[in-house]
Amino acid sequence: MHVGDYLGRRTLYTPDRLAIVDHGKTPALRLTFRELNDRANRLANWLRAEGVARGDRVAILARDGVEHLIAFYACGKLGAIHTPLNWRLHWRENAAILEHVSARGLIFGDDYQAQAGEIVAALRAGPAALSFLLHLDGPGLPGSLWFDTALAQASDAPVTCETLDLEDIACLLFTGGTTGLPKGAMISHRQINWNSLNTVIHDLTHGDVYLNVFPLFHAGGLFTYLATQVTFGNTTHLVRQFDATQVLDLLEREAITVFAAVPTMYQMLTQAPNWEKADLSRLRFCTSGGAPLPVPLIERYVAEKGVKFKQGFGMTEFGPGLFALAPEDAVRKAGSIGRPNFFVDVRVVDDLGEALGPDQPGELVLRGPSGCSGYYNDPEASRAAIDAGGWFHTGDIVRYDDEGYFFVLDRKKDMFISGGENVYPAEIEAALYRHPEVLQCAVVGVPDPQWGEVGVAAVVLRPGAQASPDELLAHLRGQLARYKVPKRVELLDALPLSGMGKILKRELRRTYSPGPSR
Ligand code: AMP
Repeated sequence: MHVGDYLGRRTLYTPDRLAIVDHGKTPALRLTFRELNDRANRLANWLRAEGVARGDRVAILARDGVEHLIAFYACGKLGAIHTPLNWRLHWRENAAILEHVSARGLIFGDDYQAQAGEIVAALRAGPAALSFLLHLDGPGLPGSLWFDTALAQASDAPVTCETLDLEDIACLLFTGGTTGLPKGAMISHRQINWNSLNTVIHDLTHGDVYLNVFPLFHAGGLFTYLATQVTFGNTTHLVRQFDATQVLDLLEREAITVFAAVPTMYQMLTQAPNWEKADLSRLRFCTSGGAPLPVPLIERYVAEKGVKFKQGFGMTEFGPGLFALAPEDAVRKAGSIGRPNFFVDVRVVDDLGEALGPDQPGELVLRGPSGCSGYYNDPEASRAAIDAGGWFHTGDIVRYDDEGYFFVLDRKKDMFISGGENVYPAEIEAALYRHPEVLQCAVVGVPDPQWGEVGVAAVVLRPGAQASPDELLAHLRGQLARYKVPKRVELLDALPLSGMGKILKRELRRTYSPGPSR
């Protein structure tokens, strides 16, 4: 059973159930499982006629919309590799990625027509030239075909790849890229199946209605709940991109029962003009993942909306469904990511790889069937990530308590050393969030001639708030050891965010580091 079979199986069981509602279209496009499967078969047949076969890469550069899913499942049926591109990247970076993976063709949305034009021109002469182009809307480029025309031209006969193995790669997801190009994590059909199992055991149930706000070029979008909703025959709502007012409106109007977001999005929802009157009572729970969730924010949701919070923890390379903290533990274990999900082995290790006991900070390492198959065309990076015992090194520093609940202390590379002491920015951020005027914050370590490294805190205040940097530093001095207190606080209008809505610490580090790169 591989990803290409999901829609066919659902069409056998529940053909007329609503699979997807795409709110990026006007009016919203509502597709049943039969209709979605029909479109995926048509695209698969069209791609096959273009010569796309098992193992070929098919790229997409577009805002969230049903076309991502049609392409993902069409590739699954053919055994081809779905390759969604991050629209936050510069076109040169995306061109380099397409060259690296020698993509067969590109599907692009009208927002990215200019980017696609540059990419096509850059690749045209080389060995990685694209052999087909499909545009989703807008006028398209010379030589590109309208996506809907391709579907209309092709047969809707079922497509399957008879030779496909569960170890075949279903998609490439690009991650990292703090130095050089992002790495393409190879996500197999096996990984997606096991991530679904990890997810349903703790989170989903029959009849759940899910609203996805994560970008579909990220594991958060494709796999947090979406692929699992399809196996369940449940409905998923899509938006083109995160918009706080629209999200609050949809949560209420579409009776959403499961919602997931990163902490910055949960912050933004509380700032939206319709927050006060939004009725969130249909939600069974909200999941927060991707970054630490400030405890005062959990308390605000509970107090003002009666919303239960779950914590999730995951990553591109091992699937988004790795750890879960149940709502009943949300307050008692506030700040924890909970316990490992059913089908993942975890350990906390020191620098020598020795397992550590409770309350000892160390690196989180993982093993199990939801692991990726390495990085595309990058054997060195693939080897570096997995140790001799088969454990994948996450780069996250965690500890677990005596009841087996895990806490993320920081990222290995976010930790800095000041005067010989390890400093975990996440701890300083948690202290800053306890200040009532702080809306968002991020602490980074920067080089310092006296201490080796020192912290700089970038802070966004609540609208209309007046706190000064000195006041915030005094607040921190009242809570933290001296060496942990940042050397300065910078007040900003907004923090730099990734496409997922995560705070881009590397940009802050670059901005505040002394020297020529500044
Ligand atoms: P990505 O591969 O982009 O999904 O990023 C994965 C990383 O996000 C993990 O290795 C963690 O550093 C971080 N992360 C994910 N979930 C959480 C969470 N609930 N709390 C803290 N950090 C998280």
